[in-house]
Amino acid sequence: MTLLRYLGAQCSPENADVVLTGVPFDGTASFRPGARFAPQSIRSWSDVLETYSRSFDADLDELDLVDAGDLQFPPNHWSRASEQIHNSVAGIVENGAVPILMGGEHLITLSAVETVQLFYPEIVVLHLDAHLDLREDYEGLNLSHATVMKRVVERVGSAGLIQYGVRSGTREEWELSEKLGTLQTDLGNLHHIVGMRPVYLSIDLDVLDPSVMSETGTPEPGGLSFFELHEAILACRGLKVVAADVVEYCPYPGSGGPSGAVAAKVVRELIFLCAEGKANSSPESRV
Ligand code: MN
Ligand code: MN
Repeated sequence: MTLLRYLGAQCSPENADVVLTGVPFDGTASFRPGARFAPQSIRSWSDVLETYSRSFDADLDELDLVDAGDLQFPPNHWSRASEQIHNSVAGIVENGAVPILMGGEHLITLSAVETVQLFYPEIVVLHLDAHLDLREDYEGLNLSHATVMKRVVERVGSAGLIQYGVRSGTREEWELSEKLGTLQTDLGNLHHIVGMRPVYLSIDLDVLDPSVMSETGTPEPGGLSFFELHEAILACRGLKVVAADVVEYCPYPGSGGPSGAVAAKVVRELIFLCAEGKANSSPESRV
């Protein structure tokens, strides 16, 4: 098996700005499993991209970007996956770098947020998704991609969750999001809402319209264009983004469609966002 790395990444963890880690877990996928294959597919598709981003006026070759490979756990074994996520994220944050997780399904966010919250108790989770993911339980599971933001909000509180791009949920989920006040329809005053608090950015790729991103676990019509998602990422510039993930890309065999390129480009722009945030908050830049 060929070992792939994300475009422009090194494999040594020394002095990293940003560390990419694959989390090939899709144990609770309800409609279409396969997100476990996403990290390798994203690495492979990253090859079609330039290392330079015009929007950020930055080049991957100028960053200390590390691709730490994939976490190792038995397929579908959540408690082992969760433990691996915790160990990985804690290690990266302790080293002063920004972790970006490449899922896998959305449940992986729970373990990552719990870990980041140990370092940043005031963490705000910015959740971009077609779905509210606020169910109390789903198919008998209280730990599921469909319940992940309910578990997250129980930990960070309603002031610690901002949801954007959502267009699908049960009546109960919509009522809960209204009650909690977590939903935003535009990100124009994001900086005002977040202030100086640290941010965890979680992008469920089904926030994009299926015409842009067809290969997801649960495609939902009526979504964002790539441009709109990119604008949302750019709206986070200047915030203190301390961790991020990209989840629910679900490559299926033989599709050969552009979803992999879309996922790889979202990851690239997240890398620049996280690196920029780290540079802004580094001791040298405060002089
Ligand atoms: Mn979703
Ligand atoms: Mn989701």
